[in-house]
Amino acid sequence: MTSRKMTAEKIEDVSALAVRAYELIVGSQTEGLTQNMVWKMLGLSSRDGSRLVTGLEKRGLIRREKVVDGGRWTYKLIPVTYPAVVRSIETIPCTTCEFEPQCKLGGIVNPITCPPEREGNGLADWVIREFRAFRPG
Ligand code: SF4
Repeated sequence: MTSRKMTAEKIEDVSALAVRAYELIVGSQTEGLTQNMVWKMLGLSSRDGSRLVTGLEKRGLIRREKVVDGGRWTYKLIPVTYPAVVRSIETIPCTTCEFEPQCKLGGIVNPITCPPEREGNGLADWVIREFRAFRPG
C-alpha cells in the first residue's frame, strides 16, 4: 500500500510532465499532435502518456480526436484552451490611453466604441492584431 502512494517529489515530476505535454500541444496551434508524438517527445510509455493525456482532457485543456496515422488508429491531441500570453497584455492600448480614466462599459467613452481618436490603436485593433499573431492564417 505504501509503495503505491505518490511522494511529493513524484507528484511534482508528473505536474512538470503535464505542463510540458500541454506546452507541446499548444505549440502545435490548431493542428494538434498525435499522442504517440507527444509520448515520444517526453520519453513516456503509452501507459504513462495515456494517463497524462487523460488528466489534461479532464481539465478541459485539450481534446482528443480519433485519426488514422500511418495506417493505424490513434488520437490527435488538440488544444482547447490557451494560456494567457503576458507579452500580449503588455501591448494593450488601454495602459497608455488618455481616455482610460473615463472608459467603462455603458459610459460615453467605452471599450465597444473605443474613441475614433485612437484609430489604428484602439482596443478592437489590438484584439485583431493579437489574434492574427497568435493564430496565423
Ligand atoms: S477601450 Fe479604448 S478608449 Fe477605453 S481605455 Fe482602452 S484604448 Fe482607451
